[in-house]
Amino acid sequence: DNAQPKKPSWIRVKAPGGEGYNTTRRIMREHNLTTVCEEAGCPNAGECWSQGHATMMIMGEICTRGCTFCNVATGKPDTLDVFEPGRVADAVQKLGLNHVVITSVDRDDLKDGGAEHFAQTIRAVRHRSPGTTIEILTPDFLKCDDDVLDIVVDARPDVFNHNLETVPGLYPTVRPGARYFHSLRLLQRVKERDPSIFTKSGIMVGLGEDKQGVTQVMDDMRAADVDFLTIGQYLQPTPKHHVVDRFVTPDEFEAYEKAAYGKGFLMVSATPLTRSSYHAGDDFERLRAA
Ligand code: SF4
Ligand code: SF4
Repeated sequence: DNAQPKKPSWIRVKAPGGEGYNTTRRIMREHNLTTVCEEAGCPNAGECWSQGHATMMIMGEICTRGCTFCNVATGKPDTLDVFEPGRVADAVQKLGLNHVVITSVDRDDLKDGGAEHFAQTIRAVRHRSPGTTIEILTPDFLKCDDDVLDIVVDARPDVFNHNLETVPGLYPTVRPGARYFHSLRLLQRVKERDPSIFTKSGIMVGLGEDKQGVTQVMDDMRAADVDFLTIGQYLQPTPKHHVVDRFVTPDEFEAYEKAAYGKGFLMVSATPLTRSSYHAGDDFERLRAA
């Protein structure tokens, strides 16, 4: 489908490169780690990697879901690598990160959805780098028993992020296989089990939603006690993916950010190039210092 709006001037991406970028890249390669920055072709990779920020993607490169905005391959996933938590911990230490974001593919093939692997990764990073704050961005554990979530929560990440991705009306075309209210409830359950953990969620805009829908999602998130919010422009990774409906203007993003703070979110990032993990560490540090 070529009926896409033209990329506006505010979607400008710096080409990756430079010493910091190359160091991050080398450490990822040496530890045989996958990053969502590369898998998703994130427009911020040049900036983030030059500062040593990368979002690691655990449990393989193949996902059991096929969200229509996402560039990760769908299929039968790899067997879990028991040494991966250790390699992640090692890489985090070498990168000297103050804050790390760890995400994964969806593992509907595993009974616990990968909850134990997530928990082990958190514990391994904590053990090696006790001063590093840990943010996880998890799948929805939709096919699992409810209590697998406790395994992850009880490993005590500092920030528990699970993205709603879009408004409920667009789930069938954007996020088939997921359920809006299940994801919302998951976020709420994290907070109920351990109120000391910050919860975070995000959506992409420009997929076909309207303002009222976005407002509704914000209200739903606050009703589920979500603390942090990210909103960014959806960009089509390849022509086979969901089309861009429109480019939301920087002014509209600013209005969303203002509205979100008005609703009580503790931290909001809403800009065209905001991604779930964009500046996550800086923002978190600022919040802790406040
Ligand atoms: Fe990676 Fe997130 Fe930065 Fe994108 S915004 S390059 S996914 S750390
Ligand atoms: Fe991509 Fe996550 Fe959807 Fe899998 S579950 S297709 S990794 S967005």
